[in-house]
Amino acid sequence: MVGHDDFVLAALIEEGIASKEAIDQARKHAAQSDRSPSEALSDLKLVDARTIALVRAQVAEYPFVDPAQFDVNFNNTKLLPRATAESLHAFPLFVVGDIATIGMSNPLDLKAVDLLRSLLKIDVEPVLVENGPLQTLTGRAYALTAGPRQDNAQRAAEQAAASDEALTTGKEPVVAAVNQIMAQGIDLGASDIHIGPDERDLHLRYRVDGSLQVFKGPAIDMHSGLVQRLKVMADLDLTQTRRPQVGKFRFVHNGRTVDDRLSLIPTDCGENVVIRLLASAAGIRGFAELGFPPEHTAYFEDVIESPYGMILVTGPTGSGKTTTLYTALKRLNTPDRNIMTIEDPVEIRMPLMRQVQVNTEIGMTFAGALRSILRQDPDVVFVGEIRDEETARISVQAALTGHLVLSSLHTNDAAGAIPRLRDLGVPPFATNAALLCVLAQRLVKRVCPDCAQPHTPEKILLDKFNLRPEDGRFVRGAGCARCANQGSRGRVGMYEVLRLTPGVRRLVEKLAPAVDIRRAAIEDGMKEMWNDGLQKARLGLTTLEEVSRVVAIQATEDAQQAAPGAPAAPAAPAAPAAPAPLKVAA
Ligand SMILES: [Zn+2]
Repeated sequence: MVGHDDFVLAALIEEGIASKEAIDQARKHAAQSDRSPSEALSDLKLVDARTIALVRAQVAEYPFVDPAQFDVNFNNTKLLPRATAESLHAFPLFVVGDIATIGMSNPLDLKAVDLLRSLLKIDVEPVLVENGPLQTLTGRAYALTAGPRQDNAQRAAEQAAASDEALTTGKEPVVAAVNQIMAQGIDLGASDIHIGPDERDLHLRYRVDGSLQVFKGPAIDMHSGLVQRLKVMADLDLTQTRRPQVGKFRFVHNGRTVDDRLSLIPTDCGENVVIRLLASAAGIRGFAELGFPPEHTAYFEDVIESPYGMILVTGPTGSGKTTTLYTALKRLNTPDRNIMTIEDPVEIRMPLMRQVQVNTEIGMTFAGALRSILRQDPDVVFVGEIRDEETARISVQAALTGHLVLSSLHTNDAAGAIPRLRDLGVPPFATNAALLCVLAQRLVKRVCPDCAQPHTPEKILLDKFNLRPEDGRFVRGAGCARCANQGSRGRVGMYEVLRLTPGVRRLVEKLAPAVDIRRAAIEDGMKEMWNDGLQKARLGLTTLEEVSRVVAIQATEDAQQAAPGAPAAPAAPAAPAAPAPLKVAA
């Protein structure tokens, strides 16, 4: 088959620019390398690259453009992500009206031209640009207009705001649809946006306060456009649709900048999209705003000022541990302290703090990173999660050698942290010496303050907790526009704090089980989590149903953890007589 290059070579001979011998030499050279014969001609300095490009343009019947002769608008980089420009060997030189002139090293690549047309949403007119100058131009343009990551935050926010405004007013339906999906997610206070295709429909769901809510999605035929638009925003490879991809982008809505993580996974119906809307440092406030009872707030504000020792926060995934830990870090974050973190992933960027991301591919594990961090003279170390022996051992050593260590563990209650540390190889004396306290927590839905109405809980619920209707200001959300008719908006924590009292320490030494440690802590004044929840229901912050739901889940988990035959842990005098139907949040 005669390729385009053969026409170029023939034209070079015909015009008397290259001899037949020179062409043969180039062909031989090309056969031994991954270059084409015409490229080999210039590699061997038999014909200069510019002359070849001119002939190529002639043969292809596309105009030849030397970008050095024109004032190319570098802002055109925002029309095309860098990875795509590089993989297609193309750069938008000018946009006049609704026609974009694209410099390409091979304008005969029709697939590339088609893709460019669908990405830019305007008509494209390819022109031939010599490969070398095209690469130089592309490199310079993207370096000079580098995205928000390299800029200072203020400028980035301004840029993002400007581009966002331009897009919202854009006529392009795909762009408008993505903006609307993002804006709605931010308005709802969603943590994640799911856009999933099946054979017939595009499903749009938002995770709000821990539960997925179904919304009407765009038509299925918008799917590939939406995915492409999101890939452009996250600077991902548009041509890659068969492999999972992750990326980041920033979206501004009503003056609020939200950092987002995009994850794409190919399914048999197309790429499934999940966008995580990351909380911002601005959203982190104080312990009282999280819903800490006053006595916990006072204690915690005090204990995090300890010069060394370890503070653990426990709870299952989605129980708000990270937010509590960031609240502590934000309070500690002053210029006279060196705070270093190792996280998987870094969820909230904090000014001043040195945050390190776990990256197992390059050997940056929790333990490995922690060892390096300790050589950086930190005052406070935040270890995202302790889940292996090595991390547990180094964390405890750090706590014993003059560092304040904050971390989290996966246990159901505060007392459970102690046998867990033991399982991770931490000896009892080290636990007693290092551990300052353990906070355990769960999240319950907060009744919407805009539609809260007095409500008497069902008798069965009141009986379960030994309560009378007059024991509190019980309310229920009737549903309104502000809470999307859910009756609840946001969540509030239920907390318990286990302190290392002399009684607790003795049991740590004796390798006592969690049940005994819990009992000793209660004797020494610990109020259990469900108690805090009950208090919040009585104050009208949440409902007894919510507390009961979460307590029921915990009771079941405890029963599952107890050894076979062993009696279930005595939760409380007001423990549920009959377990409520188990309803785990989606
Ligand atoms: Zn409401």
